[in-house]
Amino acid sequence: MMTEEDDHPGGEFDLIARYFTPLAGSGAFQLADDAACLNAVSDGKRQVISTDTIVENVHFLPDDPPDLIARKALRVNISDSAAMGARPVSYLLNLTLPPQRGKNFLAGFSEGLAADQKVYDLALIGGDTTRTDGPLVISVTMIGEVPEAHLLKRGGARPGDAIWVTGSIGNAWLGLQALTGKIDQLDDGFAARYRCPEPRPHVIPPGVATSCLDISDGLIQDAGHIAMQSQVVMALNAADIPLPEKLPPALQQKYFEALVTGGDDYELLFTAPETATATIFEASQRAAVRITRIGTVKPGPAATQLLDETGAPYQLTRRGWQHF
Ligand code: ADP
Ligand code: MG
Repeated sequence: MMTEEDDHPGGEFDLIARYFTPLAGSGAFQLADDAACLNAVSDGKRQVISTDTIVENVHFLPDDPPDLIARKALRVNISDSAAMGARPVSYLLNLTLPPQRGKNFLAGFSEGLAADQKVYDLALIGGDTTRTDGPLVISVTMIGEVPEAHLLKRGGARPGDAIWVTGSIGNAWLGLQALTGKIDQLDDGFAARYRCPEPRPHVIPPGVATSCLDISDGLIQDAGHIAMQSQVVMALNAADIPLPEKLPPALQQKYFEALVTGGDDYELLFTAPETATATIFEASQRAAVRITRIGTVKPGPAATQLLDETGAPYQLTRRGWQHF
């Protein structure tokens, strides 16, 4: 008899590579990037398409406010568009509703969508609505556009490039700990950030990055995707990783591993040649978003290294979040 263990599908990325990559078409980047591209080029621009699902009790908590659940569903997708260098333009919305989510929920939920449509200049263009006895599930498909020359992929990092990250790392992990009562007396901003991420479209100056992704499953694990697609070593300096300023230094140290491997950051990790440094600092000032250099790309074979101040590797017990 086959046990559940025998039938385990494998790790998230292995299962995608095994069952779905063989089916992937042109523009899918072998299902190893943040989004796909349509082949057609119009006005020098390409359309970028990505989809992300959020599930009650996996990506949000049952009593999270409905408007923030809506905004999270949109924003995780905006983040994937941003990771491709694209401007998000329109989206489709698939809702799977349990019976207890009625008018009240839908009123708040649609207000959240309306608010973010304004913030990000987005329009809803379709979707699907179904019923379930299971948890609330929301799936958004985002369509963005990017000038062909400015499309960012995970595969272009070159030895010698600097490694940069937007914002700071670990805010949402701290928020989840606060909301689930695992760490007390944290700043309220962390919970707000878990419920409503701050994606970074329009922050990276066009034409400077050689590779990019959005950090959704932990900085260390996601850096590994750039390493793999670019066949390089992502050498990160632990001391340079920007941690949340509102977390006292003693706790920054105590929770360091969790912060750099926890999920839901939605910051951008990118590489760029040293010559782009001044342009990146200017962009950071213009957008009023911190951008920090956290390492250097080294020649392959593909790996992520996290180094302490003496240059010795950190031993991590985990690298990031996987669903399986
Ligand atoms: P992200 O964390 O950036 O949202 P994911 O880890 O969800 O990306 O997915 C990685 C890649 O695998 C993406 O290119 C995505 O389109 C693809 N992918 C994930 N699940 C499936 C699936 N069921 N069928 C086809 N492609 C998939
Ligand atoms: Mg992504």
